[in-house]
Amino acid sequence: MMGPSHALSGAAVWLSGSWALQQFYGYEQSPLALAVGTAVCAGGALLPDLDLSGKVTRNQGGATVARTFGVFSLFVAEVVEKVSLGVYYATKLSRDPKRSNGHRTLTHTIPFTVLVGWGTTTLCARYGKWAVIGILFFMIGLALRGLFDEWAERAGWVIVTLVSAGAAFFTAANLPGDRGYPMIGLAVGVGSFVHILGDMITRAGVPILWPIPIKRRMWTPISLPDRIALRAGGRTEIVVVRTALTIVSVLAATGLAAPSVLDRFDLDI
Ligand SMILES: [Zn+2]
Repeated sequence: MMGPSHALSGAAVWLSGSWALQQFYGYEQSPLALAVGTAVCAGGALLPDLDLSGKVTRNQGGATVARTFGVFSLFVAEVVEKVSLGVYYATKLSRDPKRSNGHRTLTHTIPFTVLVGWGTTTLCARYGKWAVIGILFFMIGLALRGLFDEWAERAGWVIVTLVSAGAAFFTAANLPGDRGYPMIGLAVGVGSFVHILGDMITRAGVPILWPIPIKRRMWTPISLPDRIALRAGGRTEIVVVRTALTIVSVLAATGLAAPSVLDRFDLDI
């Protein structure tokens, strides 16, 4: 899957999950909390592809998300990719093939999604709003890059960085200050998991079973069978999948907003 589809799927899952929680369990969230969760989950759904590095010294290549903050995030991607490759070699078994690149390895596993979710929650609990500002800045940047890819491409990374920083400060200033923000960590973890599922339905597959060894392989790629798998970046993905995800997001957002709009209407009469 390509960046925009990943980001959209993160947003769609968070919005429909929130809608279900409200509808069936009466769990209400403020509009700001919903917006933050949706943005962070959309950003989280791009996080695993921060392992697609380019050429830092020449400022070239890399996944779209790796270019969110210009050469800085390209450098982060390089580090993530090399660490992933290191973990691949440290845990590979005899039938795992040799690799020269760490893309679609460590960051595309379930332990990774748990780790980033837990890490984010811990940071927020320990450092409060300062951690929230930093995490929001990073995740909002990824979400902007993914959801509004054409705008981000035209605007350039400096504008994306400034907009993300502004949105992060605004949000942190308006969030209630006395809590641990566990939803942010959950949104990062859920987003990353949604990314892995998205890659699984394309032909390349992901090592989602790691670290469970199967037939002397630790990094078995799992994907849909070729005949039903999506071609990454193909027409089905761009037209059908994105339209469906957009409809789900809009319906869920409408469902979430409807009760509060109705309440206000009642008060006005
Ligand atoms: Zn991926």
